[in-house]
Amino acid sequence: MQHRDSIDPQKRVDEMLSRLRGRDFRITPQRLAVLKILAGSMSHPSVDDIYQEVKAEFPTTSLATVYKTVSLLKELNEVLELGFPDGSNRYDGNNPLPHPHAICMKCKKIMDPELMNIDALSEEMSRKTGYKIFHHRLDFFGLCPDCQQKN
Ligand SMILES: [Zn+2]
Ligand SMILES: [Zn+2]
Repeated sequence: MQHRDSIDPQKRVDEMLSRLRGRDFRITPQRLAVLKILAGSMSHPSVDDIYQEVKAEFPTTSLATVYKTVSLLKELNEVLELGFPDGSNRYDGNNPLPHPHAICMKCKKIMDPELMNIDALSEEMSRKTGYKIFHHRLDFFGLCPDCQQKN
């Protein structure tokens, strides 16, 4: 299995912080913990996953704090949201730029493989439609190797 390399989490935290400071966002230890989880995670956590992890360290954290921090980061394009019709949205703060995902329909594991031809696909789309393309959503649904073995 080929997984992309993780982007340096400290670099991502610094980028998030500088964007948030421009918005007069007060950085509390709880909010910083949210940033660190998002910046360092390759597993595309849900808001609830993040909440559980922050709460283990800061028991007084509220779910609303996590939501607010994630939505602001999303607004600033510092986190990529993967929306699903059932509302179980997942987030990529390690790589906030649009990229294709492989999604397991059974265990919901999400992977970021390094694909070669995404830029070419985007150019072809633009050529054939006349659209100026800014970003894309490309999700591949299936069964991960673990779930295939269990079947
Ligand atoms: Zn699976
Ligand atoms: Zn991703």
